Amino acid sequence: MIPLMNLDRQYANLQEKLDAAALKVLHSGNYILGEEVTEFEKEFAAYCGVKYAVGVGNGTDALVIALQACGVKAGDEVITCAMSFFATAEAVGVVGAKPVFVDCTKDTYLIDVDAIEEKITDKTKAIIPIHLYGQCANMDKVREIAKKHNLMVIEDAAQAAGAEYNGKKAGSLGDVGCFSFFPTKNLGCAGDGGIITTDNEEIYKQCLALRVHGSGLNGLFTYGKRKNIEVSEEKVDFNGNLPKYYNFVLGHNSRLDALQAALLRVKLPHLEEWNETRRKYAEEYNEKINNPVILKPVCKNENLHIYYVYVIVTEKRDELRDAMKEAGIATGVYFPVPLHLQRVFEDLGYKAGDMPNAEYLAAHSLAIPMFAELTEEERKKVIDVINNFEG
Ligand SMILES: *Cc1c(COP(=O)(O)O)cnc(C)c1O
Repeated sequence: MIPLMNLDRQYANLQEKLDAAALKVLHSGNYILGEEVTEFEKEFAAYCGVKYAVGVGNGTDALVIALQACGVKAGDEVITCAMSFFATAEAVGVVGAKPVFVDCTKDTYLIDVDAIEEKITDKTKAIIPIHLYGQCANMDKVREIAKKHNLMVIEDAAQAAGAEYNGKKAGSLGDVGCFSFFPTKNLGCAGDGGIITTDNEEIYKQCLALRVHGSGLNGLFTYGKRKNIEVSEEKVDFNGNLPKYYNFVLGHNSRLDALQAALLRVKLPHLEEWNETRRKYAEEYNEKINNPVILKPVCKNENLHIYYVYVIVTEKRDELRDAMKEAGIATGVYFPVPLHLQRVFEDLGYKAGDMPNAEYLAAHSLAIPMFAELTEEERKKVIDVINNFEG
């Protein structure tokens, strides 16, 4: 079977270094945060071209914490795209705010920026564009709208580590960026992991507090921001105790493990090369898949796509899926249910037909094998089976 994604081959290529990094952590006796995490945060921030990065437990928590650090709270509204993984909208709901969905465009699968402004109300606090499948959303337009209406921009970059928009990396294009290191993401660890990127020191300090129960001096800072009062650190008497046992706001227990950070430090220097290879394979697919019933993904000029997944569209999606399975090729559907039609959001009052493009893609899009270790023979087989599909 040709897999859709694959972790064994990447591990085999880096086994010696990854094993050594993992053992070093085991022997160190330091397992949560610590030097490996601090170093990785610096390296990842530098890679993205931002001042700060905060390692957290997973990509979903990255979104939750980023929303809270941006001041989003119960009763607020956050605009996002109906075409995404559930976590994008879940994070909005978890902080007590209401997700407000807009459709995607049919060719790029990204948020339709022309549909955002009509959804803005006096409760809107933020926009979450998703860099879906590894291609950045139209960030010039998102930022322009956000500036005009005084909204925060939180990038969901969980599928886009290393992607670029006009020469700038994902994670440096809004007020805050959120990444996931779920194992199959294009930069993945060996468990759950995530990170938040920002140039804004106040957001940075709040993220630091929120990942550790809202405690310590950063917790105090966050308290001051929320109450809109001056808090000076000298005024709190910790009575000789550790500040971390003094809590100022409700936070989370969501930290990046040293083990994951150590593995990610081995992988990060390879990310550019892996992304480049994915791009090369995508070009090969673009060039050689020539079946007229298949639509291929569109990459906008301003984007450097990293093809976390390569998604094609066809009216006969389910038939193609069966034909590929029969030929020994794995495929995936991302995502079968658009967010506005997920049962959990039924009280928001959306109905079928509200987001025609997201609904069309849910029924007609198909991800085909894409990862840096895919062999020439495997790519050729994928192309041949698709081109020979009659539907
Ligand atoms: C993977 C993903 C997330 C969530 O990341 P986790 O690490 O699994 O919590 C959020 N948004 C998008 C678009 C994703 O693909």
